[in-house]
Amino acid sequence: MIVAGNWKMNKTPEEAKQFVASLLEQANATELREIILLPPALCLSAVREAAKGAKLSFGAQNCHFEKSGAFTGENSASVLAHMGAEYCLVGHSERRQLFCEKDEFLAKKVVAVEETGMVPILCIGETLQEREADRTKSVLESQLREGLKSLMMEDEVLEMSEKDDLGMDPLTGVWIAYEPVWAIGTGRVAGPDQVREAHGWIHSWLAENGFVESTPILYGGSVKPENAAELAKLPHVDGFLVGGASLEVKSLLGILRSK
Ligand code: PEP
Repeated sequence: MIVAGNWKMNKTPEEAKQFVASLLEQANATELREIILLPPALCLSAVREAAKGAKLSFGAQNCHFEKSGAFTGENSASVLAHMGAEYCLVGHSERRQLFCEKDEFLAKKVVAVEETGMVPILCIGETLQEREADRTKSVLESQLREGLKSLMMEDEVLEMSEKDDLGMDPLTGVWIAYEPVWAIGTGRVAGPDQVREAHGWIHSWLAENGFVESTPILYGGSVKPENAAELAKLPHVDGFLVGGASLEVKSLLGILRSK
């Protein structure tokens, strides 16, 4: 079980250090290996320093797809990787909605993140309006297809030139986070049937489209210690992407320990 804690725009570097120190005190080695912290980019150094010598992974919440250039205020994937980030969220619903990031743009980020050796965690999910209009699967399908397009195209090129006889190796290295927009930060967690159905569907789509069967699929949306156990048991739920409840060590560990 993976628990990735998306701190969003919360905590100063000093608070980040204190959080990590307290986490290292309270979590055992197995638990630490299951946690991924996603602090604001400006807290990455503090997290790295505080986690030195411990098996604790961390990553970033966003990046730009170019390596450098005139992109005021942005951070490149390569700089984040250089700072020790091992994962990077791509297309969190807040990026899609508040910063108008489109699938085409996100597809470039997925590739940029992968090229650095970090793992892109592509976030997908429907709004309430889309769910009520019975469009959940078509929204997920287009976010997956468009967001992963460049990886799928790269693979086709490889297959044609070099892998003819071998067939296509499954695509690896990308993770998916299913986060229904209506469940993020609202206290309204998706029901087990909704999560089972969405994760099952995403799992099948990934397999049908050349991705390795074991591609991790995280659920996100108001996950807390009180509701995590029921969701963790569902098929194809490999972990959680947690916002609010990841800001306190007690609730972050509470989620891990609830299973
Ligand atoms: C998130 O930020 O990805 C998230 C799921 O937030 P919350 O857990 O607060 O709903």
